Formats: sequence, structure tokens, C-alpha cells
Amino acid sequence: MVEATKTKTATTEVDAVVIGAGFAGLYMLKKLRDDLGLTWRIFEAADDVGGTWYWNRYPGARCDSEAYVYSFSWDKELLQEWTWSGKYPEQPEILSYLQHVADRHDLKKDIQFSTRVTAAHFNDDTNRWDIETDQGDHVSARFFITGIGCLSAGQIPDIAGRDTFEGDSYHTSSWPHEGVDFAGKRVGVIGTGSSGVQSIPVIAQQAEHLTVFQRTPQFMIPARHHTVDSHYLDEVKTRYDEVWDTARHSVAGFPYTPTDKSALEATAEERQAAYEAGWAEGGFRFTGASFKDIGIDLRANATAAEFIRGKIRETVDDPETAEKLVPTDHPYGSKRTLIDTNYFETYNRDNVELVDIRHAPIQEITPRGIRTEDGEYELDIIVFATGFDAMTGSFFKMDIRGKDGVQLKDKWAEGPQTYLGLSVAGFPNMFMITGPGSPSVLSNMPVSIEQHVEWISDLVEYTGEHNVETVEADEDAQTAWVAHVNDIASKTLFPLANSWYLGANIPGKPRAFMPYPGGVGNYRAKCDEVTANGYEGYTLTPTQVEAAT
Ligand code: NAP
Repeated sequence: MVEATKTKTATTEVDAVVIGAGFAGLYMLKKLRDDLGLTWRIFEAADDVGGTWYWNRYPGARCDSEAYVYSFSWDKELLQEWTWSGKYPEQPEILSYLQHVADRHDLKKDIQFSTRVTAAHFNDDTNRWDIETDQGDHVSARFFITGIGCLSAGQIPDIAGRDTFEGDSYHTSSWPHEGVDFAGKRVGVIGTGSSGVQSIPVIAQQAEHLTVFQRTPQFMIPARHHTVDSHYLDEVKTRYDEVWDTARHSVAGFPYTPTDKSALEATAEERQAAYEAGWAEGGFRFTGASFKDIGIDLRANATAAEFIRGKIRETVDDPETAEKLVPTDHPYGSKRTLIDTNYFETYNRDNVELVDIRHAPIQEITPRGIRTEDGEYELDIIVFATGFDAMTGSFFKMDIRGKDGVQLKDKWAEGPQTYLGLSVAGFPNMFMITGPGSPSVLSNMPVSIEQHVEWISDLVEYTGEHNVETVEADEDAQTAWVAHVNDIASKTLFPLANSWYLGANIPGKPRAFMPYPGGVGNYRAKCDEVTANGYEGYTLTPTQVEAAT
């Protein structure tokens, strides 16, 4: 393992600098080192591998992708050897999977941990990236590759009095490694997105009293998590090639064949039967296997939304609490669909209270708790499950500058502008793994990450074989791509919610739909077409060869 040192070092020259040691950085390192034989530096802020799964250790943290496709497909032996314990992998299991991958491929020794990249400037004189870290590293690299995740910049809202609280407070995305003891404590959770919804039922079992501060009620589908039937996994292992192939060409990176049925063409009985079947199976299959028009047609969507509202009312004993939990201000699926385990049931417990802060907003955090317009709630612990400055926040934590010193922050002042979610015009030889404008957060991440890493690796290899010094996205191609992303988004129901997909959760953030909603299969085809057409939409500048005298 490369240890971080605080002494200022002389500039080192490498082929590539990569940031991050999650799924993206680990595979990128493997490619650069073992397949391309290049030189590299990899920096990771944490003291170990894992990325998202290193940081998000809150109680109940688990992935919403089914475990057997939440892994690397490139290590075929490991696919056969590794056995996930349940339908949805829990954070500790995913972390141990990534540690195992890192050990198995001897990756850790080549990663510099506990080191944040602070600046990356494209040098117009050398056509290289000058990169600096908080540990005093200076590196000059031909390629600058980010594997920094889409949901890495945790967001604690700027509530008055936040620092006066005399109890303990935590954000779900930077949870203490030793855990938090909730026994005998009065706990408040602010936020009911994926992190809140996973942690609330677990905290409720441990705390003396739990108060949930909810701004927006959410649609959710039961996970139906269970331990994995080993016969099922053994069967999947016999057809893994086919499973991955289907996932790679699917809509969301899962190995499902989408339904072609319309909710509007079905009878009321057929719809009820389809929704009941999806509800019983649980997870994202509720949408994927029921009707094709739920995500694009408001009337079709309303049938699914009403079904879920009915389930909430059936589950929650107290009618007043149930009504507070019923979502009415956005279509189903327009905010990230939540997958839950015993979430609504938790409100039937005597020690759990729901506070509707849409109607009685939080006024301040006091030394003793949280005060809303309705009164003060005394607390020992506050959990902020308040989400992230998604997709762009982690980029803006660094001082990234392209040609002529243009800052990425300025370039993206009106929202992220990218070509394919991989590149930015004016930022030659910089590549983003699952950047804004790629399917990323609308897909099963490992599938999208692998596609990006492989595409970037192929391009890097191409530059070596064809004497190319810089690769830069064309401004026109970028403009057309951003328009294409917006055009597809406008045909969906996504714009009808105030979601983090649009940056709506961050005060002052420009409203722009950030991920590519056209599906991972279509996206892959577009990237392959760009490659087949000689990297269409990019300008490839040849290496300058000095004239012989
Ligand atoms: P999130 O979805 O953005 O949810 C944040 C919650 O905090 C929302 O309920 C939000 O209310 C509330 N909130 C934010 N600011 C607030 C404020 N000033 N006052 C009161 N409430 C406030 O964040 P998240 O739950 O961490 O999830 C983010 C994403 O991470 C997910 O959508 C998912 O993609 C990923 N994730 C995945 C998993 C998984 O796979 N199981 C688990 C965790 C996270 P509003 O809705 O009103 O904004």
C-alpha cells in the first residue's frame, strides 16, 4: 500500500492519474496496470478501498441492485467462486467483496490512500494535467480520470442553530466505523430518501424513541429481502455470460427483459394483478415487470401511484399518520424509487413518531433538539439522512481547470455540460467514469462503470497506437449530447419532481437533469458508434514530432 506522506515531493510523471478506489477506480487501475502496461498514480481519500461502500455505513445500508449482478463481470472465476448471502447485499458484504477483489488482484499496494486530490489543471504548454493533493503530491499526467462516484459529497442543510446542538449528530454518508449506540436514546432522523428509509426501521428497533422529520412523503416498494436460495445462485452461475449480456443491453443494467404491456390498455383487474405480483416480488421489478408506460405517461403512472398509496394506507394503523406518509406531490418514480424493508410498518411502533415538516417546517436546531413551527422535540442524537450534492458536488470540491485556465465550476455554472458523460469540451484527456450525462445513477452502477472503464481504456490504447497526444470533446458534439439528454428527459416524468436528479435538493443549484435517461443499452450503442466512426465528436490531436535537423 502506498502511504500518504505530507512532505512536498518533486513532480512525478505518469501516464494517468485516477481518483477513487471504489468499483470505478479499482477496475481502472487493473486496466491501466495489467492490460495497458501504463504508469499511474491512484489517489483515494479514504484509508481503504470501497468508495461509496467505505463511507455509507449507516444502520440498514444495503444495495437496491440484486447481489448477483452487483459485482464485476470481468473476473469470471470470482463470479463462480463468490456467493452472496442474500437477495440485496448489505454494506459490510459489498465492502468485503471489494476488499477481496483488491487483494486478489494485488491492487492495494498501488493505491495512495488518505489522500485527496485538491487541484487538477490542464497545462497548455505541456498538454498534460498538473495534479496536486492535500498530502503535497505533484504529479504530471497525460490522462486525468475521475472515479469519484455520483453521490459522494454529503449534504447537511444549513439549518439555523445547527452547531448549537449539545447531543451527537451524524450524516448517513460519513458514519462512524465503530457504529452508534442508540440504546436508551431519543433520536431524530431528518430525511426520508433511500438512506433514511433504510436506517429508520433499524434505528427504531434500538432507540428509546425515534422522531422522523419528513419533508416529502415517498413512494416505495418492499425489498422482499431474503437469504439467497443456493440452487438459484448455482443456476445463475451456469448462465452468467447470458445474464451479463442481457444486463449490458438493457434499460437499467439489470438482466430483465422489459414488458411491452401498457397500463392504459390493461383492464383494471389486469393492472391490479400485475401490481400485486410486482409488490409480492418486490424491488425494482415492480416497475420493470408491470407496465412499459409508468415512467412516461401520467395516466399510466397514476394507476401505479394509487396502488402504492393503497398499500401505505393498509399498512399503517393510524389513519392520520398514514395520510402524512402518502405521497401526492410527484409521480411515482420521478424521484428515485425507494426499496424498503418494514418502513411503513415502523410507524406502527409505540416508540416512533412522524413529524410533517412540510406543514410545520423546522425553524432551528437548538442545544436540546429540533424546533419546528409546532414546538420543540428534545433529542440526544440527530441523524442527517439529507442526501448529497449529487453528480457535480464532488467535482467542485476540487479546483479543476481545463485549457486557458477555465474552471470546471464556471463551465458548468448553468448545469453540467458533457459529451457522453465521459468528457468535457475544453478539458482534453480528462475522462469521467459515470459522469453527469451518462446513465450512471439511473442504472445498476457496476454495469455502467465497466462500460466506461473499458471504453476509456480502449481510447487510451488507441492514442498510443495512433500517435495521438490529446483527445478533446467538440463543443458542438457536447451541445448536441446535452440537448439529447434533455430531450429524452422531457419525454419522461422525471422533470415533474423536485429531485436530486435535477439538483433541486441543493439551494441555488441550477435545475438541469443530470443523468442520461435513454437506457444503458442505447447508451452503449452510441459509445460504440462513436468509436467505430473514429471517435466522432472528438478532436484527436497528433503528437508533435520535432523536425530532424
Ligand atoms: P436523498 O434521496 O436526497 O434524500 C434526502 C432526504 O432528506 C429527503 O427526504 C429530503 O427531502 C430530505 N431533506 C434534504 N434537505 C432537507 C432539509 N433542508 N430539510 C428537511 N429535509 C431535507 O438522499 P439519500 O437518502 O442519501 O439518497 C441519495 C441517493 O443515494 C439515493 O437516491 C440513491 O440513488 C443512493 N442510495 C442508494 C441506496 C441503495 O441502493 N439502497 C441507499 C442509499 C442511497 P425532500 O425529498 O423534500 O428533498
